[in-house]
Amino acid sequence: MSTYKSIESALIHGGIYGDEYTRAVNVPIYQTSTYEQSGIGETPKWEYSRTGNPTRAALEALIAELEGGKAGFAFASGMAAITAVLSLFHSGDRIIISSNVYGGTFRVLDKVFNNFGIGYSIEDTTNIRELETKITPDVKAILVESPANPLLTVTDLGEVARIAQKHNILSIVDNTFMTPYLQRPVTLGVDIVIHSATKYLGGHSDVVAGLVVVNDDRLAKQIAFIQNSTGGVLAPFDSFLLIRGIKTLGVRLDRHVENAEKTAKFLSEHKAVKKVYYPGLPDAQGYEINKKQAKNGGVMISFELYENYNVKKFFRSLRLVALAESLGGVESLVCHPSSMTHASIPYEVRQKVGITEGLIRLSVGIENIDDILSDIAQAIAESEE
Ligand SMILES: *Cc1c(COP(=O)(O)O)cnc(C)c1O
Repeated sequence: MSTYKSIESALIHGGIYGDEYTRAVNVPIYQTSTYEQSGIGETPKWEYSRTGNPTRAALEALIAELEGGKAGFAFASGMAAITAVLSLFHSGDRIIISSNVYGGTFRVLDKVFNNFGIGYSIEDTTNIRELETKITPDVKAILVESPANPLLTVTDLGEVARIAQKHNILSIVDNTFMTPYLQRPVTLGVDIVIHSATKYLGGHSDVVAGLVVVNDDRLAKQIAFIQNSTGGVLAPFDSFLLIRGIKTLGVRLDRHVENAEKTAKFLSEHKAVKKVYYPGLPDAQGYEINKKQAKNGGVMISFELYENYNVKKFFRSLRLVALAESLGGVESLVCHPSSMTHASIPYEVRQKVGITEGLIRLSVGIENIDDILSDIAQAIAESEE
């Protein structure tokens, strides 16, 4: 039934389309925990909703198709998805993470998996040659984000996949910031893609969810086993919300990116702004690599104001743009990484990697661009001391 070629159509028609039973155009919410079986000893298609649920299965088929992978898995949050992936490893294994990753990814490694003897090390993954020298025999995976949270640093995903393959270890990409509409790591050779679907895939700040995509049958079997064994699955209603959100991902992101590009330009020309981090700006770190592996610079922008501007006052003065954790919703959100999303990273590490007290992270929404820019402009003016 796949008569389309473009991702825009796949967003709407991909995975499992509609309902066989009623021919409803939407996959219904199969709000059931169990299924009647015809007899013992026969393996039914559906047996128990932790193991499998038709609404969740439709979402899982959809994300696998969108990312160009073999199998997809839906979890109760991005962190549950990351936890499932990290459960592939054993005591004595070590995982390399990039120096900019989501604070929760660092925390679960540092405070949970560390207790089970799974180690981690933080490396600058933008320097591939340097990175390859860090792959000692205990290293079993490289986990990166590109652009990474919160400084939007770009890592060459194809190169990470290449060195991982060469050393027979796994490459894992958290693709939350880009989504398959802007970047498809599996097509660059990456083994595992993770999403916090809470963000752009859901898109409306109304669902917490996580997704995993793999491109290998053995890995698919392992993740399915872990998903069923540890049980952090996504509920049918939340699966439905995500499918619904994904249908408009293309049109939302087109507007998000248009607004982000204008906002990045506005900030980089503003006299109060010391530095703008946005991979879509030609002078940004990794601009060329990002251009090669992604459709554009995405939606996330971080920036720093000069010292004579008070960051606390800036946040307090915003009227349209909301101060909140999270990102990727239709509304513009702003956050203070050093005290919010990245507070679980020790102060010294934060300083070393550039997550300063003055850093502001912006998820540009799809409101009218003039309203967004005038709100930011007035908050900057209010914050001058
Ligand atoms: C939010 C986020 C996560 C965690 O996802 P949850 O859905 O909040 O559990 C992981 N990675 C990135 C890049 C994120 O932005």
